[in-house]
Amino acid sequence: MSVRVRFAPSPTGFLHIGNVRTAIFNYLFARHHNGSFILRIEDTDQERSTKESETRLIEILKWLGFSWDEGPDCGGEVGPYRQMERLALYQTYAQQLIDSGHAYYCYTSAEELAQLREQGGYDNRHRELTLEQQQAFEAEGRQPVVRFKVPDQEITFTDIIKGNVTVNLTDLPDFVILRANGIPTYNYACVIDDALMKISHVIRGDDHLINTPKQIIMYHALGFDLPEFAHMPMILGQDGSKLSKRDAEKYGYPIYLEQYRDRGYLPEAIINYLSLLSWSSESGEELLSLDQLIAEADIHRIGKSAAKFDIQKLNWMNGMYIREADITRIARLAQPYLQAAGYPADDLDQVTEIVSQTRKYLEYLAQIPEHVGLFFADRVEFENEEAAKIAQTETAQTIYRAFLDGLETIDTLTPDEFKSLMKSIQKSTGIKGKNLWMPVRVGLTGQTHGPDLAATVAIVGKETCANRLKRMLQ
Ligand code: GLU
Repeated sequence: MSVRVRFAPSPTGFLHIGNVRTAIFNYLFARHHNGSFILRIEDTDQERSTKESETRLIEILKWLGFSWDEGPDCGGEVGPYRQMERLALYQTYAQQLIDSGHAYYCYTSAEELAQLREQGGYDNRHRELTLEQQQAFEAEGRQPVVRFKVPDQEITFTDIIKGNVTVNLTDLPDFVILRANGIPTYNYACVIDDALMKISHVIRGDDHLINTPKQIIMYHALGFDLPEFAHMPMILGQDGSKLSKRDAEKYGYPIYLEQYRDRGYLPEAIINYLSLLSWSSESGEELLSLDQLIAEADIHRIGKSAAKFDIQKLNWMNGMYIREADITRIARLAQPYLQAAGYPADDLDQVTEIVSQTRKYLEYLAQIPEHVGLFFADRVEFENEEAAKIAQTETAQTIYRAFLDGLETIDTLTPDEFKSLMKSIQKSTGIKGKNLWMPVRVGLTGQTHGPDLAATVAIVGKETCANRLKRMLQ
């Protein structure tokens, strides 16, 4: 049997990182098995679903580097891939269920339902209506929903991750599968779609485990083959409760994938980090490229217990990827953050130099402006008292004068020019080692330590270096 899996988000907002992890695992699993990865848009919540949300969803999944074999944007043999475009199918199968006695029209009014809810829920009162009773309700103008007849039985199924799961359905009231307006409920649409789309493995968060027995009884009633089920453990927030917007706000980490992108996280770091939640590679290796993850994706290695989302670890990993990535790529990604912070960052070569000096400090690219002040300003700020004192010593002032004289004799301050200038100052003043280098570093950067000095002054440029030192002499 060929592997066909799907990611089925609702286009009702931004993409939550818990969902991203589900998407990632489905994707890796599909690619590992040379199967198909399908994108299905579950847009039946008419009030909350928007087109923009779907567009954004597709854009962010592409940003992550994913491609799908079938989906709303690229089509496929078992489409359409938006649920609102599949209403006729839901109608057809609902009729089949009614005809075979597995479902029925229910005319209970909203007021009646509210009352029933207080008494413990819907009591299956319209299960056996006669045609006359139905006609009478319709004559009153009531619009029926279609309810599924829940069999009085125990359902046992084997989940790849959870093992055997048994649920007794005796107390479950008959549930709605089609609303009066013809829009299906989640569980029903999910069954029709997974079956017709020939999904082989339903891999989703274990918050859906309670839905699976309901879905299974519909598979049985419709005569569809069951897919395999794999319910992945939830991701926990810092509090140890479910990862949520509230936890994210409380502990100050982003919850939506778009926010991570906007802060300058790299997609490969996010995929790598999220794939390690409740899963580990056989070798125990943690830094894994997408190809390695695909090669290693093994559904049987997904653990039963929930893992905690650890932003520190993600930051560490993202920093690793930033340092390893192609420097020009990082420079291009860094440019907008520098520009937004008001730095003149149009020159890609210069930004590349800056990035090569500063990326070791970064966890994500939005942090880069904090590290580049020393490359741009005419006037440097002393980082502390100690630095200010060093710059004011007689030795430092002597060095600055010699440096300024030396600068007059060179055209561009390359790292090599800088080094030979330092040598000649050493000769002419007799000052050397730390006594020479520390005042120069402080005079040119305001800091007692920082990135490579020769590279830094080359980025800063001759003129700005001269301006900085002139101020040190005042
Ligand atoms: N639209 C559902 C969700 O986002 C899909 C659940 C499923 O995978 O069956 O939770």
